[in-house]
Amino acid sequence: MIRVTVWNEYEHERRIPEIAKIYPEGIHGTLKKCFSAEEDMTVKCATLDEPEQGLPEELLSDTDVLVWWSHVRQDDVTEETVQRVVKHVHSGMGFIALHSAHFSPVFRRLMGTPCTLSWKEGDREKLFCVNPSHPIAAGVPECIELPHEELYGEPFYIPKPDDTVFMGWFEGGAVFRSGCTFMRGLGKVFYFQPGHEEYPIYEHTDIRRILVNSVRWAAPVKRLSDPIDNVAL
Ligand code: ZN
Repeated sequence: MIRVTVWNEYEHERRIPEIAKIYPEGIHGTLKKCFSAEEDMTVKCATLDEPEQGLPEELLSDTDVLVWWSHVRQDDVTEETVQRVVKHVHSGMGFIALHSAHFSPVFRRLMGTPCTLSWKEGDREKLFCVNPSHPIAAGVPECIELPHEELYGEPFYIPKPDDTVFMGWFEGGAVFRSGCTFMRGLGKVFYFQPGHEEYPIYEHTDIRRILVNSVRWAAPVKRLSDPIDNVAL
């Protein structure tokens, strides 16, 4: 079994009624359902306001793939949390950064670059699969149409990805590397752009297929039992 932990800052869904309607159990609750439907996955959830920001050492040790959604409270994630997570990624834990998690301190630490991008509210996206033989693209159509998504555009200041699996095209006049993979130590990292909180993106069948594939891809082949403890970078 792949042990998945879905981590969510869980802020918009508690504060904004329109978003609570879209994700009544939180974005993490919806993602949990998505992964729990798979026979080879067990799922736990964690949120920012829990003790140790939801991610104590014991939970990370028991996590094969950590899925991360964050937006308005990136600055509340402590250095201790960043170091705990990065240490486990370097030791083999998979890490999936969703949507505005491009700006999470964990993802930025793993990338080593600012991870800034250009941005505009409300747009139509066509998500093109540009690497159909990649495991994350298995069973995914050539193009997924998202009638409502936030525009993310290049330049996206990330290091050169190992693989670019998806490219987003936006009606408002932008393209974006929407699905990129990286190796960091023994850990596999996938950044995936769709998932703005105002739209039910994580209910979309093809988006769910990509998420499930990415978790299977990121599950560790080798995991160090004694995590590498040298990430005060
Ligand atoms: Zn957004």
